Amino acid sequence: MGAKKDIDWSNLGFDYHVTDKRYVSMYQNGAWDEGKLISDDKIVMSEDAGVLQYSQSVFEGLKAYTTQDGKIVCFRPDLNAERMYDSAQYLEMPPFPKDRFVDAVVETVRANDAWVPPYGTGATLYIRPFMFGYSPVIGVSPAEDYMFRIFVTPVGPYFKGGAKPIVVRVSDYDRAAPRGTGHIKAGLNYAMSLHAIVDAHNKGFSENIYLDPATRTKLEETGGANILLVDADNTLVIPKSTSILPSITRRSLHYVAENYLGMKVVEREVLLSEVMGGEFKECGLCGTAAVISPIGRINDHGKEFTFSNGMEKIGPVMGKLLDTLTGIQMGRIEAPEGWIKVIEE
Ligand SMILES: *Cc1c(COP(=O)(O)O)cnc(C)c1O
Repeated sequence: MGAKKDIDWSNLGFDYHVTDKRYVSMYQNGAWDEGKLISDDKIVMSEDAGVLQYSQSVFEGLKAYTTQDGKIVCFRPDLNAERMYDSAQYLEMPPFPKDRFVDAVVETVRANDAWVPPYGTGATLYIRPFMFGYSPVIGVSPAEDYMFRIFVTPVGPYFKGGAKPIVVRVSDYDRAAPRGTGHIKAGLNYAMSLHAIVDAHNKGFSENIYLDPATRTKLEETGGANILLVDADNTLVIPKSTSILPSITRRSLHYVAENYLGMKVVEREVLLSEVMGGEFKECGLCGTAAVISPIGRINDHGKEFTFSNGMEKIGPVMGKLLDTLTGIQMGRIEAPEGWIKVIEE
């Protein structure tokens, strides 16, 4: 393992830093090349590349970190490989082979091991695999050639001094149509969310809760995180819809709730009226970045509902879920078979 970079790990934000190496593989003449690590962070391509004209791009996000016993690991990269495979197919892109995806993640993290934050700092190495249409297109069609890349960047702890509840609003904008692209991880879903999130921030809200566009009565998710709820019987309730992105954190928390905490878990449609009517004690957002971000209050066009934990601290059930999953990730609690991929011993 190389000497660590001289960084104030605990005070890193969520920003992009140019690290030493990135992985690149090209799809040309109908096949992926063998791929390699390179130093150049810049990409030169046609002004008419498919990604620039018709947004043909998909991505993933996961983290590598140092466990309590000093290993560098990442969490369930096979599920990122699988999701990116599905995302690519949906945008008529040649999927990157799943086993090669995992190998490329390992190779890229190893080549940048000096950038992996030490245990206990709360910081992690964020890994961003992505692929995009590289060759020129002018008529609307998939590109011929593609680039797959992975870069890494160190990021600071999501919460400094404990998970702090946020205030969210019910959005007037829709995120993903019922038979649209909500279930794939594509930049296009984020492009549409930028106006909504800037507007939400301007009005003092941390996130937008999107409703199902067909009826605007059911919860979907936020721009980049799935929603979890806890009802009066301590059942974990997870909103269900075909246009919600299948979060790996959410799927892992479902398993943790059932198998580590002995909770009942239900995935079903959740009405906004149930939430505003006080059917749920706790609510949180989940995703790779924060694992769980507790919601303190939800605002639906001026009508507010405050969850039982209030604005000061995470609720007991969300807290237990957060501690258990981060404990599994950091090696303090035994992980289910296959969840932790060791990158360096
Ligand atoms: C990435 C993402 C999530 C979170 O997924 P994880 O795999 O848990 O990081 C949730 N919603 C959307 C829209 C996303 O793009």
